Amino acid sequence: GEGLAVSARVAPLGSRLVLLLVEDLTEARRIEAVRRDFVANVSHELKTPVGALSLLSEAVMDASDDPEAVNRFAGRMQIEATRLTSLVQEIIDLSRVQDDDALVDAEPVAVDDLVAEAVDRCRQPANSKQITMATGTTPDLYIWGNRGQLAAALGNLVENAVNYSPARTRVGIAGRRISGSGGDRIEISVTDQGIGISERDRERVFERFYRVDPARSRATGGTGLGLSIVKHVAASHGGEVTVWSVEGQGSTFTLRLPEAARGRSPEAGAGPDR
Ligand code: ADP
Repeated sequence: GEGLAVSARVAPLGSRLVLLLVEDLTEARRIEAVRRDFVANVSHELKTPVGALSLLSEAVMDASDDPEAVNRFAGRMQIEATRLTSLVQEIIDLSRVQDDDALVDAEPVAVDDLVAEAVDRCRQPANSKQITMATGTTPDLYIWGNRGQLAAALGNLVENAVNYSPARTRVGIAGRRISGSGGDRIEISVTDQGIGISERDRERVFERFYRVDPARSRATGGTGLGLSIVKHVAASHGGEVTVWSVEGQGSTFTLRLPEAARGRSPEAGAGPDR
């Protein structure tokens, strides 16, 4: 068969090349399976709010002589429509961070700006739960990256911290520089005093559509896509995101990203003078 012909042809080059070819095929198959899975998940996730909207619109029609009921159903339709909108938006965001080369539009991005934007985005839900947001960043920190993607990533982490914390707790956002042999990196951590994540779930929360508690996630408008967006953004920037957590006590999500040295790319800036 085809496989035999391939191995016969490359045999003189040694078995390592054969292994590479096989691995390549396996990887292609894996990617295809992941894609198929994703489409199935998206369809399933879309069906929930669409189904609810359809039932609710029927209920509105049936209740046409009861204005109070019409109002109640209309209110629920609005909630489902909002959910649908944010789901579609997150699917678009995810496909963008997966397909675009994040570093094509890379520039030095001020950490202070990113933190301020993320805090702003969560101010309303934080206020309504009386959650205090405390920020502390070393001045003059710049990340080399795509502003929109970095803002989306940090925004998701802060949003989660607020969503998965009880009232009257604290969310801390800290930014600092850490020096390493491969150049300086910027570390941004988001710490909450929330419900925490079990060890088993910590491995899975970065997967698309994975939620520890689907009902709770939906109630707060969650889509299960936020952390997979964060993970993609970190990876495409040559960085990483990690989680540390104690169940019932809280979690810390940490982003580590390349520093932009003096407004230039990390390669250009990583001279011996630093
Ligand atoms: P969601 O839209 O459901 O928040 P995410 O991808 O952002 O989706 O997160 C996946 C799951 O990880 C959440 O449903 C939640 O169970 C868990 N999670 C994320 N952040 C936190 C946090 N700060 N504290 C506790 N659990 C969290």
